[in-house]
Amino acid sequence: CDGVESCTMVKNTDSNIGKIIGVMSGKGGVGKSTVSALLAKELSSQGYRVGVLDADITGPSIPRLLGISGERVYTRDEKLIPGETAEGIKVMSLNLMVKEESDPVIWRGPMIGEMVKQFYTDVHWGELDYLVMDMPPGTGDVALTTMQSIPLSGVVMVSIPQDLVSMIVAKAVNMARKMNVEVLGLVQNMSYILCPDCSTEIRMFESEEADEFLESMDLKLLGELPMTRDLNRISDGKLSEKIGETVTGLTKSVLSQLEK
Ligand code: ADP
Repeated sequence: CDGVESCTMVKNTDSNIGKIIGVMSGKGGVGKSTVSALLAKELSSQGYRVGVLDADITGPSIPRLLGISGERVYTRDEKLIPGETAEGIKVMSLNLMVKEESDPVIWRGPMIGEMVKQFYTDVHWGELDYLVMDMPPGTGDVALTTMQSIPLSGVVMVSIPQDLVSMIVAKAVNMARKMNVEVLGLVQNMSYILCPDCSTEIRMFESEEADEFLESMDLKLLGELPMTRDLNRISDGKLSEKIGETVTGLTKSVLSQLEK
């Protein structure tokens, strides 16, 4: 390894993992897991071999979003065998290891950080084109460990309009850049609602300020998702045509940013 940063990276020696895409947010509850699940499903529907590492250890919602639950992870030859969705997306999440989905994880930061690393190193991911990583929310201890230890190809930032012009997103972007992790762009979630009668986009916040913010941070807008009940039903695969198109577009932008 060359330099302190690459020396601290952990390795998975028995899997062949292509690119690792982190999905990050300045704080919890803005739709990071939702975007991770949408991205994984879209990549899988395009024929890529996809895995999702749920590094949001204390709030693991990936299994539910991808429609798998229960204890699905087992050990073989000292490696963890991940769960798998009907479409073949491999999933590693603490919620696939606990008896009750509602059992809390009452651990301190360093232990959670170790678990995230193990979810990368000790899981038999096999052959993957993309590993989507639902990162721990915010800019705290676990997010830092993750960025220092897992060889991320880039991160997708997720925010909501209220936060976009505040310092929360800027902090997360700056943290990634300080850690030499490429920020591929930003997905603005809950950007607007669609009028049920006329399909007009109703925006609660001015977008001018957001545009200025994106420019000042040199951030590419990868896509905007509406606030809709549809996004609570990702696992059914029943997304409207408009959301489907948005997800296809933002995935295309993510892939082209990764190629740069
Ligand atoms: P995070 O991973 O950032 O904590 P989640 O993806 O778990 O956020 O989303 C938090 C909650 O908001 C979930 O209940 C999710 O279903 C809901 N949600 C996320 N995005 C949207 C959206 N665009 N429209 C409606 N509900 C959403």
